[in-house]
Amino acid sequence: MSKLESALSGFREDFRGELIDPSHAQYDAARVVWNGMVDRRPALVARCANREDVRSAIRFAREHDLLVAVRSGGHSVAGFSTCDGGLLIDLAQMSGARVDPETRIAKVNGGAMLRELDLAAQEFDLACPVGVVSHTGVAGLTLGGGMGRLQRKYGLTIDNLLAVDLATADGDVIRASEDTDPELFWGVRGAGANYGVATSFEFRLHPVGPAITHGLLVYTIDRAHEVVARFAEFGATGPDEVMPTLTFGTVGPDDPWSELEGQPVALVQVTHSGRVEDADRDIGPLRIERPVADTIKQKQYLAVQGANDEELAWGKRFYMKGGFVDAISDEMIDACIEGIADSPGRCGIGLWAQGGAMARVPVDSTAFTGRDAAFWIGLEAFWEEPARDDDFTGWARRVWETLKPFTADGHYVNDVVETGQSVVRSIYGDAKYERLVALKRTYDPENIFRLNQNVVP
Ligand code: FAD
Repeated sequence: MSKLESALSGFREDFRGELIDPSHAQYDAARVVWNGMVDRRPALVARCANREDVRSAIRFAREHDLLVAVRSGGHSVAGFSTCDGGLLIDLAQMSGARVDPETRIAKVNGGAMLRELDLAAQEFDLACPVGVVSHTGVAGLTLGGGMGRLQRKYGLTIDNLLAVDLATADGDVIRASEDTDPELFWGVRGAGANYGVATSFEFRLHPVGPAITHGLLVYTIDRAHEVVARFAEFGATGPDEVMPTLTFGTVGPDDPWSELEGQPVALVQVTHSGRVEDADRDIGPLRIERPVADTIKQKQYLAVQGANDEELAWGKRFYMKGGFVDAISDEMIDACIEGIADSPGRCGIGLWAQGGAMARVPVDSTAFTGRDAAFWIGLEAFWEEPARDDDFTGWARRVWETLKPFTADGHYVNDVVETGQSVVRSIYGDAKYERLVALKRTYDPENIFRLNQNVVP
């Protein structure tokens, strides 16, 4: 019996969840993550049942000098939530969300998916602003920031975070909130994966739905300049209730407008989260005549939140680049048009309007950087064949080089695939980075939690 194996039997005794090593029948299922590009083999997967399991897993990893990966929803684009040869602390079994309709507060366990929070809140016609794919993990999304369909109306996910319980490197559990530890609370709202394992969250909820208004306006690419100009103006002047995004994409065989198959298009996606009777009036200024399609109609909020789930199901290979943009120029639109024309398959260049509630929160009040820009921009590539990795990653890198000159400072940490100190500094900017380093020295001086966009103590 190896030293690790004999230590394991002690670890097993108190552990309420499941410990899965490479000899276990479920090992391959237990180590898989969302991005099909990422294929790693941890020495042990600790499927925690509760907070005490998380604490003992952290202690065990420290005692045996094991690299620690932490996984909740498994959607890390960069593949941070797994590792070769270390201990994977898996929170998926710590799922669930509870809502108090009186206080409009949701308590959410560290392993919950967005769907659980959405479902629990919609029982009372409430919602927390979260992301746009409901099998994403609440933890990773929140600790990075949390952008989505309600960001203009109610802010980012972190703008609605009231408190988070963190199991720290030294085995404690601490609560970070504006009252209990404001500096840590500042850091976890944008760089949270660095400071411990979040075992539960509390969020503020808002009235949303159950019916909202949502759909697409599709335009041929020759109208891109006109469409982007209208989108940009609406981003600056439109009401907070409307969240518009604009994607340069290519029509696929299954799209309802398949007569354009293979052709690039500009798609404006609209979510109106206010009163349905106000939707036509509020969305009106965004519409331009003669779209290829206009699918905007009343839908259930939950249906909208789940609408992308199948298309973005687990197992696809994925690569992306992202940043923020202050103003969209004609040259930038041309670069997008050329970029999408050159795409090797299912790729998109997306712009999300910011502004509204997320922009009213002061930039320096959270570690998240970029909320004051007018738009977020992201290049996304999906494919299935490993042999085509270079085609798709190469496309994204090439097109990003043409778009980078138009971007502002900062990146959304959850978009960034590359690693290294200069990369992490470019996410937060130097001043915030130094503040994050000071926090890291307090809460994780040995850098136990380093599989993330790492703030080095
Ligand atoms: P995981 O892979 O489990 O974890 C991601 C990171 O967080 C890792 O570094 C991990 O170590 C750390 N982590 C995970 N759980 C914990 C925990 N409990 N405590 C401490 N650290 C932890 N982002 C948006 O803002 N809006 C969107 O609409 C959006 N849509 C997305 C759609 C898809 C299909 C994908 C793949 C990603 C999307 N993202 C979006 C990005 C997403 O927010 C991040 O990938 C996020 O990190 C995923 O969280 P997770 O818990 O699923 O990931």
